[in-house]
Amino acid sequence: MTARQTFFQKSFKVLHGSGLSRLLAPFTQGCGAIFMMHHVRADQERSFRPNQHLEITPEFLRECVDRIRRNGYEILAMDEAVDLLKSGYGRKRYAVLTFDDGYRDNLEVAYPVLKELGAPFTIYVATGLIDRQSDLWWIALEHMIAANDELVLSEDGSGTGISCRTLQEKNACYHQLTQWLTHEVGELEQRQIIQRLAERYDFDLAALVDRLMMTWDDLRQLASEPLVTLGAHTHGHHALARLSEEDARKDIMTGVYRMQAELGRKPKHFAYPYGNQVAVSERDARLLADIGFNSAVTTFPGVLKSVNARSPMLLPRVSLNGRFQDAYVIDQYLTGAPFALYRAACWARGGFGLRTGVSRLFPSTR
Ligand SMILES: [Zn+2]
Repeated sequence: MTARQTFFQKSFKVLHGSGLSRLLAPFTQGCGAIFMMHHVRADQERSFRPNQHLEITPEFLRECVDRIRRNGYEILAMDEAVDLLKSGYGRKRYAVLTFDDGYRDNLEVAYPVLKELGAPFTIYVATGLIDRQSDLWWIALEHMIAANDELVLSEDGSGTGISCRTLQEKNACYHQLTQWLTHEVGELEQRQIIQRLAERYDFDLAALVDRLMMTWDDLRQLASEPLVTLGAHTHGHHALARLSEEDARKDIMTGVYRMQAELGRKPKHFAYPYGNQVAVSERDARLLADIGFNSAVTTFPGVLKSVNARSPMLLPRVSLNGRFQDAYVIDQYLTGAPFALYRAACWARGGFGLRTGVSRLFPSTR
């Protein structure tokens, strides 16, 4: 478990047990919250699950919607929520449900639940995955570590590799390699390394994307549904801040053009791939505003407050983490208290270098 996940798990227990979150709520609660999800599917019975935080069950999704509403929050489409935030008007509290990437289970599993409950939602689509031109490298890496006892990374396959025999070694290997691939090597090299590994360990990258991602026909079906908003998530699913300005603009615009060509309309809302401090910069926020997006969501943890209206291209989100599938976490999240405590902990940890502390502690959520 990462430092951030451990922190939230501990703070949930303390806040829940002590009632502290209720005391803090008047100071920490915002006007709304944007929830972030990825996969929605039945629980996977495997011991090695480094991406477990990216999947929740349909039962938990149903509980979350119920709990959000019981807390007095109305679930709104992204358009309406952004309008309310920007107008700073009214006393209504609201929540937005968002899903990143464009997984097939969003259509097959999440959509029937949300349709039945009448809950609007947004899917941010990485068009390169729908076009089968991009790779789900983090899932491919999980599969390759699961299936092998050692991963050799050198270009020619020589030398000793990283041992991944036991569950502990597999988790350590996954953590070490994702850190390296998202922080040390460049975005293009990252994909080349995964492609090289896939060839060496006989892993079919294209079949993985085909199995997990929606098609354009699937998306056209969702686009015709009034409850659904389709937002942009770039074409190549790259960490924009790690690209040159020209490449970042190109990755955003290719995503926009592909959605427009296939779905007949331009996306108005955007989600940064990975969305953390390493993947998001002020430059990218300016690019998105210039292109004409109405909003852009990050994975910076937090609830929506009126102050966020000043930077609609850098909105925080609440990750519905598959490791904490208990509905009481919704009550805790909505008070805003866990995020305020987390920010305070980061502040204390990093002296007053808040941004540095945060960027070190925030793992990517893809
Ligand atoms: Zn993503």
